[in-house]
Amino acid sequence: FVNVGERTNVTGSRRFATLIKNEDYETALEVARDQVENGAQLIDINMDAGMLDAESAIVRFLNLIAAEPDISRVPIMLDSSRWEVIETGLACIQGKGVVNSISLKEGTEDFLAKARQIRRYGAAVIVMAFDEEGQADTLERKVTICRRAYQLLTEQVGFPAEDIIFDPNIFAVATGIEEHNEYAKAFITACEQIKAACPHVLVSGGVSNISFAFRGNDTVREAMHAAFLYHAINAGMDMGIVNAGQLAVYDELPKPLLEAVEDVLFNRREDATDRLVNLANTLQGRRKRKRVPKAWRKLSVEERLSYALVEGILEYIEADTEEARLKYERPIQVIEGPLMDGMDRVGELFGAGKMFLPQVIKSAQVMKRSVAQLVPYIEKEQAKEARHSRGKIVMATVKGDVHDIGKNIVGVVLGCNNYEVIDLGVMVSAEDILASARKENADMIGLSGLITPSLDEMVYVAKEMEREGFRIPLLIGGATTSKVHTAVQIEPAYSGSTIHVKDASRSVGVVSDLMHNERREAFAEQTREEYAEIRERRANHRRQTKLLPFSVAQSRKSTLDWRNYQPPLPHHIGIQVFEDYPLAELIDYIDWSPFFTTWGLRGKYPNILETPEVGEEARKLLRDAEALLRVIVEEKRIQARAVVGIFPANGVGDDTEIYADTARTTPLATLHHLRQQTEQPFTRPNLSLGDFIAPKTTGVPDYIGAFAVTTGIGVAELCTEFEQQHNDYNSIMVKALADRLAEALAEHMHQHVRKTLWGYAADERLRNEDLIREKYRGIRPAPGYPACPDHNQKRVLFALLNVTENTGIALTESLAMVPAASVSGWYYSHPEARYFSISRVGDDQVTDYAARTGMDLETAKRWLNPLLT
Ligand code: SAH
Repeated sequence: FVNVGERTNVTGSRRFATLIKNEDYETALEVARDQVENGAQLIDINMDAGMLDAESAIVRFLNLIAAEPDISRVPIMLDSSRWEVIETGLACIQGKGVVNSISLKEGTEDFLAKARQIRRYGAAVIVMAFDEEGQADTLERKVTICRRAYQLLTEQVGFPAEDIIFDPNIFAVATGIEEHNEYAKAFITACEQIKAACPHVLVSGGVSNISFAFRGNDTVREAMHAAFLYHAINAGMDMGIVNAGQLAVYDELPKPLLEAVEDVLFNRREDATDRLVNLANTLQGRRKRKRVPKAWRKLSVEERLSYALVEGILEYIEADTEEARLKYERPIQVIEGPLMDGMDRVGELFGAGKMFLPQVIKSAQVMKRSVAQLVPYIEKEQAKEARHSRGKIVMATVKGDVHDIGKNIVGVVLGCNNYEVIDLGVMVSAEDILASARKENADMIGLSGLITPSLDEMVYVAKEMEREGFRIPLLIGGATTSKVHTAVQIEPAYSGSTIHVKDASRSVGVVSDLMHNERREAFAEQTREEYAEIRERRANHRRQTKLLPFSVAQSRKSTLDWRNYQPPLPHHIGIQVFEDYPLAELIDYIDWSPFFTTWGLRGKYPNILETPEVGEEARKLLRDAEALLRVIVEEKRIQARAVVGIFPANGVGDDTEIYADTARTTPLATLHHLRQQTEQPFTRPNLSLGDFIAPKTTGVPDYIGAFAVTTGIGVAELCTEFEQQHNDYNSIMVKALADRLAEALAEHMHQHVRKTLWGYAADERLRNEDLIREKYRGIRPAPGYPACPDHNQKRVLFALLNVTENTGIALTESLAMVPAASVSGWYYSHPEARYFSISRVGDDQVTDYAARTGMDLETAKRWLNPLLT
């Protein structure tokens, strides 16, 4: 039996993902080495993560592995859902590799083409039991699909049978859904039948799936894996992805556990799942959150306050606060006594990973409500000196940026850990931030931002802090910020401690280390060293990646076959405005996964709802979200607006000319796109979005679309209302929902354009999950994102669609859209159009770009700074 090591997989290992994102390839190599040392006979490598350029990451990693004899003695399994990544990887590995994976999902032609390509590289291939109808779940489908694939591969491609590895899908059992009960048996029997029907092939599978229902309970999981493998290997399974260091021994499994597990695997009795679940609960003595009986109302007032805080119950807080106020001598004592004790408990539970962000925010809200009730009495007593906080933090979203969900969450979390947070809001200038820090005698400053120009604004704030002689720590957070950016750009500008805070759950730890007299120095020192290392690695990498002369990059543009291509003719040319679009229609288009990320819960929707770790909390959060969403929709508290347009367009050099008329005589606007300038692996083109539009010289009449949508009208008012009621939870929730609705509207409009306005995909029938996976034809790149990183093109877009007048969306000086819940971008219809990433450009390209766009060189360099440094 061949073990496939799976830790070098960014989707499966959070640690590995972090290493790659931080460009710590040395430690990432150690992960590979550990795998081999621990008995992996093949290593699976996967770099498919959003925002990661999988192609260049895999090339870099494979090249490093090639130089490590103790790793490269085992074969490599290239794992990606993107064919380009696999192909790039294939060209990079030495010896015989394995492709993970291909399938009949996209039909016979696609399957054969990929198989032939793999054959050229001499690699083996994993074939998933998946066809045009979907994944094979029954025994019969598993066997039928594998036979069909076998015939195609051996008869039409001449694929050696011993290089074919079938993966007949291991699915979770004991999920509580009856149809799932046969899954283990179906796999095991399929092993036998496939080996009989398809001579010489191998069978593989991802073993940990089988026990997915028991996540968090390693005892049961390991027992399930051991038992499943034992039977599957007997039935002919040859290899599998397993954590070799974490396998129980079949013979040593306690008899009652083994029996319960095998009852489940073989679906031997109706109550098998229930029995295993019961056994699992006793086995791990799993921490079930202690439920104080409903009788908690009978506890002492202090205990009731504490309980209400931990559980986030608002219902009785006013009565209990009043009772406590009357009981204590001074109202301040209620805060300093029972309330602070309760919040300490919350902080403790959160720190230990036993409470999650949404719960903490609810707790903070209970606290605020209670404090608000006490404040008038405290003021009357003129005892304003009040409690002392553990430290004071001035926080702001930087100038030009309006995104503040993350910052607000951090603020609340720090607040309930008894830090005093002075939140200056959004779009705050460096001057105001520093003035406030000085006036308040702050212990540290926290900066937040989302769009890329904010990164430079943060560097500017750091420089100003240096110039004005500040020494207090500077914290950096927000979606586009990163440890690498902080280390490379911000830290060198400021001599005080500069620290990137990855998410709200880290903020308390960082702040408490910085406030702690003994820990402070060590923490600052350690961060400094870490950042110096990051800078060095980064510099090394920069030296290694080759930047082409711009003219060479241009000569390597993508050349589509325009002679044999007819761009689809739009049904409606020109602009369409949608005022007050019905919100109810957007709900089905929501992608909920990022919503949970916003709230610090990890996992993909809908699976997240069922995980043992955060499932319960995720379900509660979703229930709250849906309730608020219902109110928003029914009472029309926010408004959705959109403008879309489709125009004749042709390429001229690297620019795209947009015309007002189909005769293409009246120019309306010119779009300028940057081009990838780093040397691309193998013969891949250096892409620019302009490559997806037919050049004028071809005479082919092409088109481009543009859109801007918002669901942010009314959000600010609604948030203010909630904040006045001390309801931070709902205020943050409204913003998070508005962001989701904006993305849903963008998705919905894009579909409307494909099916109706442009009309090239009138027959498209995709479920929301397929829309989220971008299974449709065409793309909608957004200015500021990696394929078109210059935010300035938003100005062109806004003028073209008259966005501000038509929708109310405005641009800040950093070109962020206000309201924040807005999305804009371009529509490309070419079937080959795809997203890519421009990570670096040279001075020569910037000079050319400045001339084309009419910016002066200095200005162009300032906007493109993140790509130049
Ligand atoms: N379902 C997601 C959709 C948003 S993220 C959600 O609800 O949050 C995906 C969007 O980001 C794309 O539609 C595109 O507009 C943008 N995008 C992603 N990668 C890009 C790239 N490389 N270049 C330009 N735009 C990109």
